[in-house]
Amino acid sequence: MVRPRYELPGRRRPASLQERGRFYRRRMDYDAAAAWMSRPAGGRIFALILGRHSGIYPRRFRHLKNVPLIIDDVEKVRDLRPYLLRYLPEGVYYDRNVYAPLDETRKARIEYARAWRSRVFRGQELAFDLDPENVDCPIHGDIATKMARHQGLSFCDWEFEEIRRQAAELFDELARRWSRLRIVFSGRGFHIHVFDADAFRLSRKNRDKIAASVARRYAIDEWVTSGEMRLIRLPFSLH
Ligand SMILES: [Zn+2]
Repeated sequence: MVRPRYELPGRRRPASLQERGRFYRRRMDYDAAAAWMSRPAGGRIFALILGRHSGIYPRRFRHLKNVPLIIDDVEKVRDLRPYLLRYLPEGVYYDRNVYAPLDETRKARIEYARAWRSRVFRGQELAFDLDPENVDCPIHGDIATKMARHQGLSFCDWEFEEIRRQAAELFDELARRWSRLRIVFSGRGFHIHVFDADAFRLSRKNRDKIAASVARRYAIDEWVTSGEMRLIRLPFSLH
């Protein structure tokens, strides 16, 4: 098997297990993450990814390293802490879907990936994911070229500067339609979150249209905006 080579600008690199442990124990701002998740009210679900991208994971959880571990019994972000200290994940994500209260949602035993039509589904946070590897680079080529070289997760300074410029421009464009926007550095690129109530209620069809139109002009992952990919990194977690 080819281990993807991870090439990052400057001295950036994935965190070691020890660094993850220190971060989740002492440095993560659980209160800020809780404030982020506090609206809208409703059942929220988290997911941990142990080592899919970094190849770094606790040996005893080798069988779980690539699959998202779904956590649907945590009412407060701080209650994630024991899970984080146990599994030391490379990434902490939340489901942008908002559900009925969690006990009701768990009882419904739905498949979360197909929650859209279920009776416990309340809406989905609209989001835009801008990644530097999606940018066509004069040196490294387009995403297909990078994937062919197993460098689909690598990026360079030029790509980072370009994705930062695009994120600012897209933010201004979205601000003409929505008013409750937040932008977050994802650790690689940028995420723009839309918290307006009417954005939560958008249909799949409307999301597809928005995603396609934005993707023609910006290096976004279309399936995040369309709603197909519903997990997004939890702000104030390890980036
Ligand atoms: Zn490049």
